[in-house]
Amino acid sequence: PPAETPQIVIDAHGLPYLNSKLPVQRRVADLLSRMSLAEKAGQMTQAERGAVGGGADVTAYDLGSLLSGGGSTPTPNTPEAWAKMIDSFQLRSRATRFQIPLIYGVDAVHGHNNLVGATVMPHNIGLGATRNPQLVQRTGAVTAAEVRATGVPWDFAPCLCVTRDERWGRSYESFGEDPALVESMETIIQGLQGARNGNDLDRDDKVLATAKHFVGDGGTAYGSSTTGTYTIDQGVTTVTRQQLEAVHLAPFEEAVQRGVGTVMPSYSSLDVVGDGLGPVKMHARADMIDGVLKQKLGFDGFVISDWNGIDQIPGDYASDVRTSVNAGVDMIMAPYAYKDFHSALMAEVRAGRVSEQRIDDAVSRILTQKFRLGLFEKPYADTSGASKIGSAGHRAVAREAAAASQVLLKNAGDVLPLRKSQKVYVAGSNADDIGNQSGGWTVTWQGSSGAITPGTTILEAMRKNSTALTYSKDASAPLSGYDVGVVVVGETPYAEGVGDVGNGHDLALSAADQAAVDKVCAAMKCAVLIVSGRPQIVGDRLGDIDALVASWLPGTEGDGVADVLYGKRPFTGRLPVTWPRSQAQLPINVGDPAYDPQFPYGWGLTTLTKVPKGGQSTLKALGAAASRAERAGADGTGRALVAEARLIVQQRAAGRMTAAVAAPFADADHLLLTGRYGEAVAKLTQAYRAA
Ligand code: BGC
Repeated sequence: PPAETPQIVIDAHGLPYLNSKLPVQRRVADLLSRMSLAEKAGQMTQAERGAVGGGADVTAYDLGSLLSGGGSTPTPNTPEAWAKMIDSFQLRSRATRFQIPLIYGVDAVHGHNNLVGATVMPHNIGLGATRNPQLVQRTGAVTAAEVRATGVPWDFAPCLCVTRDERWGRSYESFGEDPALVESMETIIQGLQGARNGNDLDRDDKVLATAKHFVGDGGTAYGSSTTGTYTIDQGVTTVTRQQLEAVHLAPFEEAVQRGVGTVMPSYSSLDVVGDGLGPVKMHARADMIDGVLKQKLGFDGFVISDWNGIDQIPGDYASDVRTSVNAGVDMIMAPYAYKDFHSALMAEVRAGRVSEQRIDDAVSRILTQKFRLGLFEKPYADTSGASKIGSAGHRAVAREAAAASQVLLKNAGDVLPLRKSQKVYVAGSNADDIGNQSGGWTVTWQGSSGAITPGTTILEAMRKNSTALTYSKDASAPLSGYDVGVVVVGETPYAEGVGDVGNGHDLALSAADQAAVDKVCAAMKCAVLIVSGRPQIVGDRLGDIDALVASWLPGTEGDGVADVLYGKRPFTGRLPVTWPRSQAQLPINVGDPAYDPQFPYGWGLTTLTKVPKGGQSTLKALGAAASRAERAGADGTGRALVAEARLIVQQRAAGRMTAAVAAPFADADHLLLTGRYGEAVAKLTQAYRAA
């Protein structure tokens, strides 16, 4: 702690709220009973760290929270500098009447991505491909440890968006298109927060998590704007009540059960068919935030608005404040408008348009989390875990996740795995670029190409495994005499909006990528890796490609990608979203009536398991056994049987993907997630017959 710090002595004032032996509820009630309206309004205000006059306004406005957000001024680059920054602000909160500590928040959406040198995990879309809840929980634990070690106790993650149209530029923040898949990945909340009851939050390696963006952010319609700009991001989600609940709300229900500490409303509007309201901005929806999230689902944490999220509510600022707070938003992210928010809120309360009861509820929720985090006892950064930031142990988890996220879409002639002695020709825009393989939300909001943070590129990792590797980014080096070519293509980083500027809203490969693929694949057997936040349209070019891998955005550990390329680990990843044949098919999702994708949801070949040679009779036997397992509640057995059935189908269907195969195959994957093993095998049998 800074030298001039007045150390907290428990019971120094003899006030109950400082007594850590009392139950949190009592401490909250005691503190609340002493606070003025200005102090309460301050707790409900979150400002941007560079906007607060070097910290003076933390004291002047009794600010409850600061953030480094996507759109923030540049933040420090070293753990020490982070800790120093947090402490300097915390010191300002020590100068307020009740010394209520600040809660500092960041977007650590795939590791502590704000910090150069941190361990960068695959983005959520890749984690969804792993289908491995335990592993995903471990990635969350690494993220939490690295974030808390820089003095930050709060993470605006995970995004629980269910992406339904990959033209949306935040698709990679989604675990996938199937709510059941998203739910299964919410173990990440335990990785971040620890125990469901919040008892681990005061540990030096845990953080408060945020389920975002409530609700329907992944369901916005594409191209609905009349102004010519694409509004799919922050646009309108039009759904029936049933779709709303089954697709978009279900993951939040799961998050509440897991004890998530905070929830962030979505920028998007929700239009529930038949409710007569039309599209209403989520930050204004009392029926959803107060009614559903808090009352119905029983969420007892606090709701933090999105960045200037209340400003999008129609009407003047006073009405934005009134409407959002009355809708149940407890803390407002008002990065630069925090003074306006603070005074507007007080005015609304004094005028009786926002009740004191509502304010007390909001402040109680916020204080509760601060007490749980142990901030009153330990307001300053505990950097004892800082040596683990970017450590070998943490990187090993990211490497494992990167490996498990790789989805082998095609593998004609068993091109993969590669062998050490093969002469390999490596090309493509994303073969040797840490920035590109990490994507948006890495070091900066939008991310950027190049060596932006320490890590291992896919090329560097491949070199460790190969005795004869030639690299030519644009495939201009002579192409003769190689055993195999590996072309690594895909997107450049972006965050929010529609994404990748070069490609606009189009999911086609760039012209340079297409040229590299064509050149290499015409000259030799080739594997193409697509490093991107969403499917890229390969179309007919698939015929010229021997092996195709969806690599997603694997993060800093390219070694994980090389591990599966060279057979040190098997490919086990499966598509978290449907892979379309053409742009015209979008949006396309599992369960759609005319489902004819290039690769269905759930697709993913493996390079290890010996694929059973069985036919329909085997499938029938597996189906019967799966039904028995399901009835007996034997989860592991049921899963294993479905996995075996899937392999039989994949072996037969590889290269003959038709609508009749794809639809039941994708459905089976959904059924598996929901524990309906017998039905899953029946669907797979249907796919097998069609193939
Ligand atoms: C994003 C949120 C994020 C916030 C703070 C917004 O633009 O929509 O996901 O948490 O910024 O950076």
